[in-house]
Amino acid sequence: MSLYEGAPRHSEIQVISKRIDADSAAGRSPILYENEIRNYLGARVRGVGERLLRMEGADVELCSGRITASNIGDRSIIEAILIQSRGVPPVWPCDCCRNNHFPLTFPTCLHVPNPLTFQGICGNCKASGRASKNCDVMKYFFEMEESQVHLVQTLKSLADDSDAS
Ligand SMILES: [Zn+2]
Ligand SMILES: [Zn+2]
Repeated sequence: MSLYEGAPRHSEIQVISKRIDADSAAGRSPILYENEIRNYLGARVRGVGERLLRMEGADVELCSGRITASNIGDRSIIEAILIQSRGVPPVWPCDCCRNNHFPLTFPTCLHVPNPLTFQGICGNCKASGRASKNCDVMKYFFEMEESQVHLVQTLKSLADDSDAS
């Protein structure tokens, strides 16, 4: 697993992961709060992660025991947390979340339905390290929201044109 260069500040992350561990041990669903995501976990993201970080976010509910001190600094985990925090429920949950193909990191399938942010992959698939193309959550989006997709493509081509000029 790759780490972002310069891991998030160690002491805050330790406090957060201790609380998550305690909640998991007590059988509660751990919560990551938006201010923690923004100030500590998201502090060192790059590229697409930065785009996600700039969006409005919400607290993130976790499945017990999936995010721990040993993986909370992993790039795919931080990006997945950002997707869950900024994301919305898809038209239909992805195949992996629906059929429990692997232990879920988050109780809900959420995604940022934008081809520019990891091709709209859901947080659970991102956390598991799957490639964006293996999460089928955008398929339903494309099927159900053709007019919106058309708009996204139009906007993208306008952006490409302005990049070129
Ligand atoms: Zn999913
Ligand atoms: Zn998925």
